[in-house]
Amino acid sequence: MPPIFDKPTNDRYDLVLIGGGSGGSGCGRRAASYGKKVAVVEMSGILGGTCVNVGCVPKKIMWHAADLQEKITHHTQGYHIKGADSIPKFDWATFKPQRDAYIRKLNGIYATNFEREGVEHHHGFGRLTSATTVEVTRPDGQKYTLNTDNICIATGGHPVIPSDEEIPGASLGTDSDGFFALEEQPKRVAVVGAGYIAVELSGVFNALGSETHLVIRGETVLRNFDPAIQDVLTPWMEKTGIKLHKSSKVAKVTGEKGKTLTVTTNKGESFEVDALVWAIGRKSLTANMGLEELGVKLNSNGDVIVDEYQNSNVKGITAIGDVQGKSLLTPVAIAAGRRLSNRLFGPPEFKDDKLSYEDIPTVVFSHPTIGTVGLTEPQAREKYGDTVKIYKTSFRSLYFSMIDEEHKEPSMFKVVCVGPEERVVGIHIIGAGSDEMMQGFAVAVKMKARKKDLDDTVAIHPTSAEELVTLR
Ligand code: FAD
Ligand code: NDP
Repeated sequence: MPPIFDKPTNDRYDLVLIGGGSGGSGCGRRAASYGKKVAVVEMSGILGGTCVNVGCVPKKIMWHAADLQEKITHHTQGYHIKGADSIPKFDWATFKPQRDAYIRKLNGIYATNFEREGVEHHHGFGRLTSATTVEVTRPDGQKYTLNTDNICIATGGHPVIPSDEEIPGASLGTDSDGFFALEEQPKRVAVVGAGYIAVELSGVFNALGSETHLVIRGETVLRNFDPAIQDVLTPWMEKTGIKLHKSSKVAKVTGEKGKTLTVTTNKGESFEVDALVWAIGRKSLTANMGLEELGVKLNSNGDVIVDEYQNSNVKGITAIGDVQGKSLLTPVAIAAGRRLSNRLFGPPEFKDDKLSYEDIPTVVFSHPTIGTVGLTEPQAREKYGDTVKIYKTSFRSLYFSMIDEEHKEPSMFKVVCVGPEERVVGIHIIGAGSDEMMQGFAVAVKMKARKKDLDDTVAIHPTSAEELVTLR
């Protein structure tokens, strides 16, 4: 078993990271690759953070299960795949232990990587007692201090649940962490929120056959995304059976946790569910870490305010990943962490290394998936005015030609261009396969491709992706 440290092994470390998630691991391992002495303080006792344990990885596995169930339920007939008397059905209770075992395996891989590369994993709560000392409180309450010239905060965040004072009975619900702890599939479920997590989790529940309510404050989901994406996904979610409560807020929740809950909205609607999941955003984990005492500037969400080099306002204290409040995505945390270590400890050519937060591609694992990079149309119009030109197409992927009308998923691809050269500043796509399509097109946007460059690229036929190089 890879070691977990419970005392310092060095008088002074080159880098102490607080948080062993995506950012902490990426930053720590890169620093160790330069021969530096690195300690990562992690309070949970397991490595991998949100992404591995209660985020990207188990979520994507559940998305795959949901996707498969959707295909079995709605698509097999169209392709004349016959023989089953009844539709095979996902078994949550037996699948969860298998999913959990895979996550434990990943935790082990993280630990082994640390051991192999010489990164020390300290199990405890990390708190700054000065700009050069981190106090570690072990699970048994004992404390010790790690000395260093570089402290990096990589503590991520936690899901927000309204207080019972704000919304009576709110604590009867759970959050995305609780979603991954569910041992049984709820027959009826309410999800609250309109962002990434609400869309993804309600999509999983719905595809797996739970009666799914989604309570959103506005008229559409994903209000920060391009309007065309919102306009395709929102009605499709309703068409696939999600009971959307638009322009609604939860007013109260009554009942007993684990049994039947009654959710009442501010519009007076009431409905019964077996579980309620809040997915209304996350808050940074920066409380009780001694940051305010040291004068480290935080914003109202508790995010550490950093400059473009991840520096806080206090010399020697940096922050990476979700805790700095921008682009809460795993590859962003990793990339920022690696570049920070490059800058601090790498060869001279890296002395100014930093992550550009522009044109970060992202995918929403909805049904169908969404891929997006760069500016939305409203953002582009605000920045570039009348020079914006939009290319857009809506179509059904060939795959759905054999599927009944009711279950033909929509696809919509949109390219946002600016100026006489029609530089591509945004691509927004929804439809089967969008998740896997986006990465390559993000390279093109990052390289400042023009519409002409897309047009000059020979299409790959028959695919959905070819629509992006044949737009007129
Ligand atoms: P984290 O991974 O949260 O790691 C922080 C670590 O710090 C934790 O392990 C925590 O225990 C520890 N910690 C906190 N405070 C202390 C302390 N004082 N002392 C010691 N340890 C401490 N991103 C994607 O790119 N793609 C996805 O598909 C995706 N899906 C997601 C799905 C869900 C449901 C959620 C919640 C998130 C998802 N994300 C996704 C976001 C992604 O998980 C995060 O952006 C990423 O994990 C952030 O990494 P981090 O290192 O900043 O923080
Ligand atoms: P988001 O910020 O994406 O969405 C939260 C949404 O909830 C808001 O946009 C808002 O939408 C709504 N909301 C906020 N407050 C309330 C409230 N009081 N009552 C009702 N609704 C409210 O946060 P998530 O928690 O969904 O996800 C956190 C982050 O994790 C994401 O931003 C993303 O960066 C990351 N993530 C990435 C994934 C991926 O890459 N696929 C998947 C999951 C998470 P509105 O204003 O419309 O009401």
